[in-house]
Amino acid sequence: MTGTTMVDVRGLHKSFGKLEVLRGVDLQVAAGSVTVVLGPSGSGKSTLLRAINHLEKLDRGYVSIDGELIGYRRSGGKLYELKEREVLRQRTHIGFVFQNFNLFPHLTVLENVTEAPISALRRPKAQARAQALDLLARVGLADKAEVYPRQLSGGQQQRVAIARALALEPKVLLFDEPTSALDPELVGEVLDVIKDLARSGTTMIVVTHEIGFAREVADTVVFMDDGVVVEQGPPNAVLDAPRHERTRAFLSKVL
Ligand code: ADP
Ligand code: MG
Repeated sequence: MTGTTMVDVRGLHKSFGKLEVLRGVDLQVAAGSVTVVLGPSGSGKSTLLRAINHLEKLDRGYVSIDGELIGYRRSGGKLYELKEREVLRQRTHIGFVFQNFNLFPHLTVLENVTEAPISALRRPKAQARAQALDLLARVGLADKAEVYPRQLSGGQQQRVAIARALALEPKVLLFDEPTSALDPELVGEVLDVIKDLARSGTTMIVVTHEIGFAREVADTVVFMDDGVVVEQGPPNAVLDAPRHERTRAFLSKVL
């Protein structure tokens, strides 16, 4: 860990109509570190990830990644929204892995991984292909390059989704419950890939209910409830000696 801040979330507010889903979220993620976000269903975890990626507009507060404001530019003390094209460029630096994989069904595994590098980064096809084959080997799917997503198990599809996210060489990888849609026997193979990335120093924010994974891999565990960060700290502090009753109540249900 270098100690520099890769993701900086300050005072984030987000409402949907009258429902205030994020009520002032602050979160700093150090470069090369793994942050695991825990919290009950409806506490705002997915909205937080989507806000970091600017898939949601913010009502108040800001997100910056590697020092760059996401979705806005500052001028004369005011924030102005960036054009969609600029936001898309910023998003190429932010990998997102969804609960339901979201692979392109009509593309092969290899094409799923090369699509964004070719179309968004204008990489030469041969180069994108070589990189994709390396990434597929890294997630243990070198032999599946030419098949279609429907021919794969859920765990394999999620590993392709991770390879696809890595192909853009993101500054940060966001995972939204990456194993929640998987049969129990397939969870381990996906967590193993994420652990491997953690060891290689990839900056990650992982929303998950896998407490064992949090304990083993997280540098920081963040507990969210009702749109705020209730507490955060190293896994042994938050998981074994939580300071807040709401954290204790949540952990007693999931442990
Ligand atoms: P979590 O991921 O922690 O389960 P979410 O961030 O998905 O929580 O949702 C938090 C709350 O915001 C929930 O009550 C959810 O119904 C609501 N919500 C999320 N997205 C929308 C939306 N696009 N429109 C309206 N309500 C939403
Ligand atoms: Mg969610």
